Amino acid sequence: MNFSNTYACLDDIFYKKSRPTPVRNPNLFLWNSSMAEQLMIPNELKHDSVALAQVFSGNQILPGSEPIAIAYAGHQFGHFAPQLGDGRAHLLGEVFDQFGQKWDIQLKGSGRTLFSRGGDGRCALGPAVREFIMSEAMKALGVPTTRCLAVVTTGEPVFRDTTLPGAVVTRVASSHLRIGTFQLFAARGDQQAVKTLCDYTIERHYPELQEEGPNKYLLFIEKVIERLIRLVVEWMRVGFIHGVMNTDNISLCVETIDYGPCAMMGIYDPETVYSSIDTQGRYAFGSQPEIMQWNIARLAECLLPLINADKNKAIDKMGAIIAEFPFRFKQVYMKMMGKKFGLTSFQQEDQKLLFSVLDRLKERKLDYTITFDFLTKSLTSEVAASQMKNELEECFDLWQKRINEQDATSQEVQKLMRQNNPVVIPRNHHVESVIKECEQTGKVTLVENFLQVLRSPYEELPQTYQYQDPPRDGDADYETFCGT
Ligand code: AMP
Ligand code: MG
Repeated sequence: MNFSNTYACLDDIFYKKSRPTPVRNPNLFLWNSSMAEQLMIPNELKHDSVALAQVFSGNQILPGSEPIAIAYAGHQFGHFAPQLGDGRAHLLGEVFDQFGQKWDIQLKGSGRTLFSRGGDGRCALGPAVREFIMSEAMKALGVPTTRCLAVVTTGEPVFRDTTLPGAVVTRVASSHLRIGTFQLFAARGDQQAVKTLCDYTIERHYPELQEEGPNKYLLFIEKVIERLIRLVVEWMRVGFIHGVMNTDNISLCVETIDYGPCAMMGIYDPETVYSSIDTQGRYAFGSQPEIMQWNIARLAECLLPLINADKNKAIDKMGAIIAEFPFRFKQVYMKMMGKKFGLTSFQQEDQKLLFSVLDRLKERKLDYTITFDFLTKSLTSEVAASQMKNELEECFDLWQKRINEQDATSQEVQKLMRQNNPVVIPRNHHVESVIKECEQTGKVTLVENFLQVLRSPYEELPQTYQYQDPPRDGDADYETFCGT
């Protein structure tokens, strides 16, 4: 693999050189062959599972790789933690894929670093498999996300509440720049470091801004906001609850990152929370936009000195941009919801209908994914139409009327709805049972079957029905954990 290590070329205040701690008995558990193709993993490595296990456990460092642990800070559940950083991850370096796009290759669970604090630097197999499944599902759903290349079991136990099998997961991401990375240096008052970081981020992810004059950093925050709005809107489209939207888990390349306590919403309810540590419901499904705005405000604070030497003037400018967030979010969100309902162009008056359907879903405890799948099917199936009429009552009639009045063929409406309404999502109870099977038997058959279905989320394969069922208890007692 041809590594370029632009992050490791920055000043060493941004990271610490750190080598993975070798593991006893690495075995390749999951391998993402399409990702491997894309990354052009050399043939002699790709077909040698023993060599892959050595490399993607961190036992063997490939030539050209300069492993580092990245430094960052972050607000966790609203409280500032001035020193976090990769406590159990090693960035091996950056590689170009077959399309010329640059990717970070990072091992997670690869041993302690200077940032580990009390942690063991390791990762259990369950959370590693969860990250693999969820990120593949999100990718196929069309939601920006980090990817997984491999999960390698270590042959070593990790000690959490119980003793669990250990694993190293290889994460592939456009970068690992986080809001928390900026916060680390802003909190130290190191304005030069913040500028270096910002210029690096612009060069890597917003190159179109490089030639901009003094407005560059304001335009940067505008672009970040635009992309983060799209990200949250996509989460809301598919019912994804991130679960731990701390500022260290918000990436500036704008991909979903950190699949620790995430979950999918079944029954539609904006207040849905599954994370065991989110006791206040801070990161509930419907709070995600508001929290993203809060997180962006934390990034904006870091950039104030780059906007204007006069702090008040900088605050005025930034404040005006941040204040627009709810309005801008709503525009993108309503447009997306309009598409879920098959509206080729969203009109202001449509809001009432859309919200009344969502209210009905909540009131009747209806499943979000199933309802929109059936609404899509109701265009061509009498059975689905009568079920929808039963559940949505007058809202269904109003919706049908609206659909029929618009200037679009039924095929066009069908296509639009199908593109925006998955037939299958990684439902919590299936994710859990597949992970359990992995832990107990060490077999991957169930994960592979599940992944095959999740990789075609807008299409019913013969086996898709096995994964469409809602949880029997509506996920009433479901809880997710950080997995650390
Ligand atoms: P996370 O909850 O995964 O976003 O992690 C928050 C912080 O805790 C990061 O700095 C992680 O590197 C660190 N951390 C989480 N788990 C471990 C662990 N097992 N060992 C060392 N550091 C960890
Ligand atoms: Mg994290």
